[in-house]
Amino acid sequence: KKRTDCPADSETLGRSTWTLLHSIAATYPRQPTSTQQTDLTSFIKLFSKFYPCWVCAEDFQAYIEREKVKAGSRDEFGNWLCEAHNEVNRKLGKPEFDCKRWEERWRTGWKDGSCD
Ligand code: FAD
Repeated sequence: KKRTDCPADSETLGRSTWTLLHSIAATYPRQPTSTQQTDLTSFIKLFSKFYPCWVCAEDFQAYIEREKVKAGSRDEFGNWLCEAHNEVNRKLGKPEFDCKRWEERWRTGWKDGSCD
């Protein structure tokens, strides 16, 4: 019988990481201080150097070079992150996510009440 407490494969790692990152976006201030903005930008850049899937990390670093991290508000960062996730979705042939709904997915729950 296969155990469940094994090292994370790239899918488990990815799902857990997106959960953390989008949840950070969901709780990021609507009006962050300039320190919070530079800290979040540094965090994302540093995170990208240590993400423990090296090919993923390389592509993500290149993406951050092309599309600068936007940390001016919750909305801005949430949308930036959603677009970054969509870039990975495209690469993997997964469906794109409608970024107008990132806050429903990660902060408020769906408007139809299905998370309540
Ligand atoms: P995930 O992509 O993990 O998404 C989890 C949930 O997030 C979805 O069920 C959906 O509800 C929601 N969601 C989906 N898209 C969005 C969006 N755009 N915005 C907001 N919410 C969304 N894997 C590789 O094989 N190669 C790579 O190069 C690679 N690069 C990665 C780079 C980063 C920075 C991260 C965090 C992960 C990377 N992964 C990569 C992992 C990959 O993105 C997936 O996490 C993994 O394949 C599992 O996919 P999943 O179908 O469970 O859904």
